[in-house]
Parts: sequence; structure tokens; C-alpha cells
Amino acid sequence: MKRFACGDVVAGCAWVMQLDDEAELMAHITQHVASAHGVASIDSGLVAVIQENIRLVG
Ligand SMILES: [Zn+2]
Repeated sequence: MKRFACGDVVAGCAWVMQLDDEAELMAHITQHVASAHGVASIDSGLVAVIQENIRLVG
């Protein structure tokens, strides 16, 4: 299981998602940052930051 806590990247955000599939997880993260943080397109730098903060759990 892979887990991403948005608060690790965006201070104060409590959104957390965990899924087995990293591509699917990334899709949820993209939707979240667009709707909650107004980031319409994620550039490669932000993808790298997100991937660094995806943790294996369970
Ligand atoms: Zn967030």
C-alpha cells in the first residue's frame, strides 16, 4: 500500500490518500491539488516532490 499525506508537502493540509496502485494514487493527488490548492497543472518538479513523499505502508 502506498500513502501520500498532502501535509508533508503543503503545510496544514490534512488530506491523506492511500492506494495500492501508484498511478491511481497520483491521479487522486492531481485532482486534490487542483481542487484544494488551485494547481491546475502539475509540473515535473512538483511530481518529483510528490513522489519523494509517497511512502510504503502496511
Ligand atoms: Zn492538500
